[in-house]
Formats: sequence, structure tokens, C-alpha cells
Amino acid sequence: MEKRRIAILGSTGSIGKQTLDVVRQHPDRFEVDLLTANNSWETLAMQAREFDANNAVICNEEKYRDLSEALGDTDTKVFCGIDSVCSLAASSQVDIVVASMVGFSGLLPTISAIKAGKIIALANKETLVAAGAIVMDLAKKHNAPILPVDSEHSAIFQCLLASQGNAIEKIHLTASGGPFRDWPREKIAAAGKDQALRHPKWSMGAKITIDSATMMNKGFEVIEAKWLFGISPERINVVVHPESIIHSMIEFSDGAVLAQMGHPDMREPIQFALSFPERLPLNNRKPDFAQIGSLSFQSPDTSRFPALALAYKAIARGGNIPCAMNAANEAAVAAYLKDEISFYDISDIVERCIEEESFTAEPDLDCILDTNERAFERARDLIQRIKR
Ligand code: MG
Repeated sequence: MEKRRIAILGSTGSIGKQTLDVVRQHPDRFEVDLLTANNSWETLAMQAREFDANNAVICNEEKYRDLSEALGDTDTKVFCGIDSVCSLAASSQVDIVVASMVGFSGLLPTISAIKAGKIIALANKETLVAAGAIVMDLAKKHNAPILPVDSEHSAIFQCLLASQGNAIEKIHLTASGGPFRDWPREKIAAAGKDQALRHPKWSMGAKITIDSATMMNKGFEVIEAKWLFGISPERINVVVHPESIIHSMIEFSDGAVLAQMGHPDMREPIQFALSFPERLPLNNRKPDFAQIGSLSFQSPDTSRFPALALAYKAIARGGNIPCAMNAANEAAVAAYLKDEISFYDISDIVERCIEEESFTAEPDLDCILDTNERAFERARDLIQRIKR
């Protein structure tokens, strides 16, 4: 089999590093064409050197000189700026694009790769939250397969391979419940970022870990599932499953349920997206069911985790509203990580921004870009007013 040539957008983040670990385990199957990062030029230089990348892009142009000098004695070509990310992700030397940038910033490079018909290994769920209709239309038009990297969606995708084309009745989207799963509301309200960043099951970047604590992440995943699998959100049931062994389930009209399981380790869904349809060995922990003992399930509590209900509300309204929700959340999470606001301010700000956004039913890309900017600014204003 030909080696697959990979572009990793956001290679210095958590998903990027774990993707490179998968590549490291299969040097005969994968090679790295492109690595990109926002600011972390030292890590990027180290990665480009280890994997002999053809191209490296640093988005922050002020770090270009540092990266250039660090890679001066290598064959890696060095670029800067988001436009370079967009054009190199679409280059003919790339087979698969791992979209693992954080937040809305992943949208334009992902669209560029889709337009070039690349296989997209999608880790950046915000792309579908903000612009699901546009992205899925383009993917269809340009024959660009979108393979989920998000563990829940990879699970659903894997279960669907056994569906023989039968329609699914329901998706059961599992949630770990995050670090505050059993905490009373008053205690959650007072929690600082250090507590919110302590995720019990998954090791991830800061933004998604806060999104997991608020359960906004699960709300985003409902929207992501709607677009990836063409299922309406009323048929997506979120169930809290603290052990995080079942990564999600699909249910058929006869009540049969298929689940995909494994120890929580992002390298498994990453590798499956890279090697699909083949499965390759992976040196991860394998489940020992007798040792796991039992699996438990609970309903999510939207009075303690209002962000989850907000996401259902936003996707029910549709149009540009989920984009506004995502932008407000991005601003609010950044502020929470700087200790500028408290935990429940995040969902309060998101709710206000959703309510105040002017509705467009079928937004084009310009409308999405405008909505993102407007909602982000609106959230920033609210943050300034409540800043502690
Ligand atoms: Mg997930």
C-alpha cells in the first residue's frame, strides 16, 4: 500500500501530538507533508525535524524568523500566516488533512482542503458547529470524505459500518460528565479554572477541557453528529457514562443497540481516521472487562450544565445561531481561563449572545464570518462589564 501523506493543522496541540504518535508507530504507512501551529515554533521545529516534514507553517508571523532559523539546516520549507495553511492544505502532495486547530480558526483551512477533495480527518468540531450546512455541501460537491476524529463520532461511524445501510432510529451520545459531574451547583459556581481543567478521563487541550466541564462540548457534539450523520437533534440522546468505556451507540428501529468501546485514548479514533478502512495495531491499553467491573449511566442535568440545553436550542433555531453560540463560547472560555469571569458566566454570556443575534436562515460563508466576529465582540463587551 502507498504511504498516506498527511497534513496536520494544529500539530502542536493535543490531537496534533497524538496524531504524530500514531505516525511514529507506523512509519511504513504514513508520512508527514505539512505541520502547522499558531505560536509554538519550538515544538513545531522539533516535530518537523523528527518527521522530516516537507512544509511547516507558523500562523503568527512574528514567529516566522525563529522557526526559519530553527529549521535552517533542514529540507523543510517554512511559511507563515493562515493563507499559507489554506494553500498548503490543498496541495497535491497531501492525501489526508487532520483538522485539529482550535475553535473557529479551523474553518477556512478545512474548507480549503475540502475544495481540493482531500480526505478530512475532522477533530475541529467548531467547524461543523459554526458552518455545518456549508461544510457538508462543499464536502459533497468536491467528493471530500469527512472522517470523524472526535471519539463519540468515530464510535458512531464505526457502528454504522455494521448497519448495512439500515436507517438509525437514535444516537446515544455518551458523555463522561467532566470534572463537575457530581458537584452541587454552588460548588461548581465557585470553581476556578484549575479545578475545571482536571478532566477525569480524557487528556485534552485547555479549551475543550473547559467545554467538557460546562458540557458545551457535548452540545457541540450533538450538532456535529447532526451534520456528519444527517440525523435530527431530537433523535440524539445524551447519556452520562462516567467510565468512558462506551464511546457512543446507535439504535435501530427494532431496539437493537450497537456500541463501540475501548479505553479512552484519542489515538484510537485518530488512527482509524488515518488508516480507514483498514485497522492497524496500536500500542494502547486494551479493555479488561472483568477489571472494569461495571458500566453506569445517568441523565445529564441541564440545571447544573445549562450549556447543553443551549446547544439544543441553538441548533433548533439553526441558520447562523450555532455560529454565534460558538463565537460567544470561545470568547467566554478564553476569559474564564484568564480568571476574568466565573464558571456560570460562560453559559450566561452564550445565552445572551444567542438571544441578541440577528437571525439568518441560510447563511453563506460571509454571513458566518460576520456572525462570528459580531458575537465574539458582543461576548467581549459582556465580559468587560462583569470582569471581576
Ligand atoms: Mg468527544
